[in-house]
Amino acid sequence: MSAPIFDVVVIGGGLHGLSAALHIARQGKRVVVIERHWTGRHASGATAAGVRTLNRDRRELDLSLEALDMWHNMAALVGDDCGFHAHGQICVAETEQGLAKLATRVEGLRAAGYTHEELIDAAELRRLLPALSPHCVGASMVRRDGAADPHRALRAFRASAEAAGVTLVEHCAVMDLRRQGADWCVVTERGEWVAPAVVNAAGAWSARIAAMAGDEIPLDTKSSMMMVSERLRPFIKPVVAIVGRSLSFKQSDQGTLVIGGGLQGTPNLERETSTARMRVLAKGAHAATDLFPMVRDIRIVRVWAGLEAKTEDLLPVVGPSPNAPGLFHAFGFSGHGFELVPVVGALMADLVLRGSTSRPIEALQATRLMGGQP
Ligand SMILES: Cc1cc2nc3c(=O)[nH]c(=O)nc-3n(C[C@H](O)[C@H](O)[C@H](O)COP(=O)(O)OP(=O)(O)OC[C@H]3O[C@@H](n4cnc5c(N)ncnc54)[C@H](O)[C@@H]3O)c2cc1C
Repeated sequence: MSAPIFDVVVIGGGLHGLSAALHIARQGKRVVVIERHWTGRHASGATAAGVRTLNRDRRELDLSLEALDMWHNMAALVGDDCGFHAHGQICVAETEQGLAKLATRVEGLRAAGYTHEELIDAAELRRLLPALSPHCVGASMVRRDGAADPHRALRAFRASAEAAGVTLVEHCAVMDLRRQGADWCVVTERGEWVAPAVVNAAGAWSARIAAMAGDEIPLDTKSSMMMVSERLRPFIKPVVAIVGRSLSFKQSDQGTLVIGGGLQGTPNLERETSTARMRVLAKGAHAATDLFPMVRDIRIVRVWAGLEAKTEDLLPVVGPSPNAPGLFHAFGFSGHGFELVPVVGALMADLVLRGSTSRPIEALQATRLMGGQP
């Protein structure tokens, strides 16, 4: 029996794979997404779903700002707002030195023409976060940032991709990539798929897919942890972080507190597990109660950790393979890829369909991590 023929094979059914597939299929191409487990099994199902341009690295800031505009118009893309609320993201300073750091960043951004971040004083901070501890002296903020609902996002991207004609193949691992004339033959445990273009959106396992095509890209693994509390009456709308400490703190629509922010568990790529470390979570809980003393006695009801790829410079790899024509990478989001989902999918469509993009991805090329050696 001959292999099914598609225009594009997307490896990985996380949000980035689904977004790329959706954008490509909407331009009339036949796309198949091959996912080892089920859509959202790894980082995209474990994410805190923060939509943050605040404190973004300048090398991905323009993409991130375009993505933010897309989040504000998400229903037009996937028929649902994905639970996105733009209540702002705030980075709180507990000391004058911390506030000075934030001020330097905001001034630097202004000098470069970016006005999305602003510095706010203690009085405005108190107005926005009445429950905040009085020792906090000020903050930086992006008012248009916010957070979404990851599971609504997964449902909406998946349903829109299928409505656009994307074929989803779940419970099917990609084992190898081979050349077949000008095409790629994607070898899986359930048969072969042939296509001229392949998108590598395999999350924490993306370096393995890249290596199958000859790209040796150094990649580390993150195991970010989250904890969720019992339900509380609504008392906070923005997402809150702190200068110099690992914390992301927000209240969901259901009233639970969702606390994370880079607290790391123990990853195991072979077993595809990521184990929570309670002592590290306790540090996060400590940071949360320092900022919001009123949550000191609440109960944490659930914790988890999710696997994701981390690059040396914490920027993603987004672009064509340096070695293998027809292969395109979108991985290494290093803990902040949820916000970029709509725009990276759109630019993958540019690359796959037209061979180039006007979006700024020069700093995100794989070669920067390969010691200059493609
Ligand atoms: C706890 C946590 C909190 C986070 N919080 C935020 C946040 O607040 N804001 C933000 O912007 N980002 C956040 N992130 C990061 C964000 O969630 C990720 O960057 C994003 O979800 C990555 O999506 P992805 O599609 O690239 O990867 P994934 O969702 O991991 O998808 C990759 C998929 O590829 C599949 N796969 C791998 N190998 C193969 C193979 N050989 N064959 C077939 N399929 C394969 C996997 O099974 C997986 O489903 C967080 C991440 C975590 C873990």
